[in-house]
Amino acid sequence: MNKLILASDNTHKFREFSEILSGTDTEVIMRSAAGCSFDIEENGTSFAENAYIKAKSVTDFTGYAAVADDSGICVDHLNGGPGIFSARYGAGIAHNDQERMMYLLEQMKCAEVRTARYVCSICCTFPNGDVIRAEDTCEGSILFDPIGEGGFGYDPIFLPEGFERSMAQLTPDEKNAISHRGKALRTFIKEYKRYLDAHK
Ligand code: IMP
Repeated sequence: MNKLILASDNTHKFREFSEILSGTDTEVIMRSAAGCSFDIEENGTSFAENAYIKAKSVTDFTGYAAVADDSGICVDHLNGGPGIFSARYGAGIAHNDQERMMYLLEQMKCAEVRTARYVCSICCTFPNGDVIRAEDTCEGSILFDPIGEGGFGYDPIFLPEGFERSMAQLTPDEKNAISHRGKALRTFIKEYKRYLDAHK
């Protein structure tokens, strides 16, 4: 059986990766269970670089293949921000998801252009140096007020293109079908299966 270390201890991500990898003869292991207790400095300048840094550090430490994702929201009025800084946007002022979302809305007060996109980059590194990458986006715009209880992060203020409900008002299946992470994961799994077939 192949071992794949998830370079994260987020149980939600663990479930997502485990589910999508079932049927590929792969055991998914969380980074702490693989003995990785060190902090990883995400000092890349793009989602792809940060995903690579996270996966590579775990492969280097464990000697096993590792997979990582990095995601965030890019708002045109904010020149693509908060982007890779989405999880710590408004540091010092905003202390949790709800406050970061309200902080973003505050920055949009005078915005004429409200278009935005979620981005998710996935990177899988192998001990022999091989790398698989997958990235996708979910286009949309920033609402004027939060609405909806589902999802997380910026979902209540994100209106996905073609919908009249916020991301937080979609069912988990609806979100998964159109989300940056859902799409990137589906691309990743195709590439990962192809890789395993070619390296049997
Ligand atoms: P990370 O990739 O787990 O570091 O997440 C980065 C940050 O991007 C999260 O903390 C959220 O603020 C934001 N984000 C990423 N994906 C989503 C999403 O699907 N909905 C809402 N916020 C998201």
